[in-house]
Amino acid sequence: MTVAFDYTRSTGPVIGRFLTGLRDATIVGGRLGDGRVAVPPPEFDPVTHQAVTEFVELPDTGTITSWTWVSEPVAGQPLGKPFAFALITIDGADTPWLQAVDVASPDDIETGMKVRARWAEERTGSVTDLVFVADDGNAPETATPAGGTEDVGLIVTPVSLDYRYAASPEESSFFRGLAEGRILGQRCPKCRKVYVPPRGACPTDGVPTSEEVELSDVGTVTTFCVVNVPFLGQRIKPPYVSAYVLLDGADIALQHLILDIPAEEVRMGMRVKAVWKPRDEWGTSIENISHFAPTGEPDADFDSYKHHL
Ligand SMILES: [Zn+2]
Repeated sequence: MTVAFDYTRSTGPVIGRFLTGLRDATIVGGRLGDGRVAVPPPEFDPVTHQAVTEFVELPDTGTITSWTWVSEPVAGQPLGKPFAFALITIDGADTPWLQAVDVASPDDIETGMKVRARWAEERTGSVTDLVFVADDGNAPETATPAGGTEDVGLIVTPVSLDYRYAASPEESSFFRGLAEGRILGQRCPKCRKVYVPPRGACPTDGVPTSEEVELSDVGTVTTFCVVNVPFLGQRIKPPYVSAYVLLDGADIALQHLILDIPAEEVRMGMRVKAVWKPRDEWGTSIENISHFAPTGEPDADFDSYKHHL
């Protein structure tokens, strides 16, 4: 499963100045109250708490003050092969900056080593616009011209988490049922409530729910929200409705989409039926159901679902 969103932030005048510098292949530091130069520039002096307003353009060379080896890079890291993360004190600066160093092996890097920037051809105003390499004393290649002229005022940071979800035995049964076009829940032996997807134990009584119950794919909309906001990866054009559907025979509602009806006409109590995808598209997930659509039946009485909101 992947949970992902883009995090967008405004940079402000200080980080914006720094990132604009990177876009233009220039390392910009900030002058602190005691005369020291910090890279990246902080927005406020950590000692005097005064705003940092004086910027210093620095060379793109420096010295490694500490490092660690990344033998197995993960997605989103600066290099797709083993590399080092190092604290690098840029020449003319007084504080170290964490950056990637492209060397072949840990034998090729050491504290005190001189490094220089290797600028990306296409730079956007990001710390990934450069990595450092060993400074062999040769004249560095000239960076390509910057990709823009406006200051960098907004940055987009993609955030993504991949994880593997281990289904419980009860959920496994539910997912296997979906692969056959069936919706399977489980009944609590004590309170007789039917949970779908199965919980493994009744949250009220704390006893295992072992009795399997096949549910109808027809149900009632209990509550819903109209999604008006576009977001990354959205597959349906807003507005559309995400709803809780109480399947006939179940005691807890499933969340799903309500389509084939204008969003403003969806209502509590509306009767809906699952619209299954074509069978050859089925896997073992609730996405085998494309969405729910109105059945055309009269709305359910509020009393029939008021305890399931
Ligand atoms: Zn129970």
